[in-house]
Amino acid sequence: MSDIPAPILDTFNRPFRDLRISVTDRCNFRCTYCMPAEIYGEKYTFLAKKDLLSFEEITRVARISAELGVRKIRLTGGEPLVRQQIETLVAQLAQIDGIDDLAMTTNAYLLPQKADALKAAGLQRITVSLDSLDNDVFRRMNGNRADVSDVLAGLEAAEQAGFAPIKINMVVQRGVNDQSVVDMARFGKERGYIVRFIEYMDVGTLNGWRLDEVVPASEIVQMIHADMPLEPLDSNYHGEVAQRYRYADGPGEIGLITSVTQPFCGSCTRLRLSPEGRMFTCLFGVEGTDLREPLRAGASEAEIAQIMTGMWQQRTDRYSELRSSLTKPREKVEMFHIGG
Ligand code: SAM
Ligand code: SF4
Ligand code: SF4
Repeated sequence: MSDIPAPILDTFNRPFRDLRISVTDRCNFRCTYCMPAEIYGEKYTFLAKKDLLSFEEITRVARISAELGVRKIRLTGGEPLVRQQIETLVAQLAQIDGIDDLAMTTNAYLLPQKADALKAAGLQRITVSLDSLDNDVFRRMNGNRADVSDVLAGLEAAEQAGFAPIKINMVVQRGVNDQSVVDMARFGKERGYIVRFIEYMDVGTLNGWRLDEVVPASEIVQMIHADMPLEPLDSNYHGEVAQRYRYADGPGEIGLITSVTQPFCGSCTRLRLSPEGRMFTCLFGVEGTDLREPLRAGASEAEIAQIMTGMWQQRTDRYSELRSSLTKPREKVEMFHIGG
């Protein structure tokens, strides 16, 4: 791309910079906080293949996004590695001019089979989700689908394939895996993985989220700091969602994703594409805007670009900032209930 386009700005002057593509609604895990097995069981109907955007359709949306200013693409899901031949999509996305970061978030179960192909196709970075190194805790959290050793094999495969540095996502839930935080930090420090501790979020409506299950990032930092002293780091770039810390006594860093206690909507530059082609300007969006219909009806590049631009320019989302003000009245009610 010869000219860098002027960024498209939303109503809060946030530029359109990142595209997060969910390539499937299916997953081989049933994490209790994401796809609880009681709800996503045998009777649950996932999207039919014809309803998923094809790789060509996804690539077209990604190319138009790059022309509109997007620089980063992340593949996610569901579990991105359960989409057949995902490396073919990676290869197509890697060809797009202007994209300087192509990453994937995965549960790593299929990485031993896929890591080399992903690297060869042009994937640049991998984030692996792992919620505990304690096998019982991990199995309980992933719906009894995998052992810690399966994920470690995936991490090993990713390293062997040449991915570095690898990040690990750990969602911290009070009373479930908060006792695993320090072990995970130590594991990352020893192996050179950047562990990102994620505050448990109220995404969707089916995981029974409760505010008292959120372990605030400040508490996570204290837990680790008591064992392995930490120093704050500056952010790498504007819009980086993780608060970063490094170890005072040597190499290694961690990140905190503070979506609940310190929302970062002000620098949120992400658009999400669902597997069936709906675009969401917020993780907590409700309806989304359908792109599949115009894509399949033969809309031109300019028409698709216009739909995307219009949607971004109207964007007003800041759910996490509003959530703080919404949860306070609820806390007050409880205070009143217990008598203060
Ligand atoms: N299946 C892949 C994986 O688990 O890495 C990619 C999709 S998953 C939805 C992406 C990330 O969202 C994972 O790191 C997962 O732990 C995180 N996540 C899912 N539900 C969450 C919740 N309620 N709160 C915070 N993070 C959550
Ligand atoms: Fe959700 Fe990822 Fe767990 Fe699958 S592996 S249930 S998509 S968090
Ligand atoms: Fe972005 Fe919505 Fe999350 Fe705020 S709540 S950071 S706008 S995705």
